[in-house]
Amino acid sequence: MELTVCPECGRPAEILWRAVMPSTDGLVEHAKILCIDRHWFLLPTATLGLDPGGREIGSWW
Ligand SMILES: [Zn+2]
Repeated sequence: MELTVCPECGRPAEILWRAVMPSTDGLVEHAKILCIDRHWFLLPTATLGLDPGGREIGSWW
């Protein structure tokens, strides 16, 4: 499980899934988060302070 902070209430929020979606800036990875107060958001992962693509991919290059 990955955790971040809810942008609305500042409490811990779980990252449910990530997906790469087209946007005006090209392909941007988004994440759906659900906080312990049941707020949910679909946000670019960059705004959550997460590593793009997650640590599973890593930086081999
Ligand atoms: Zn919240």
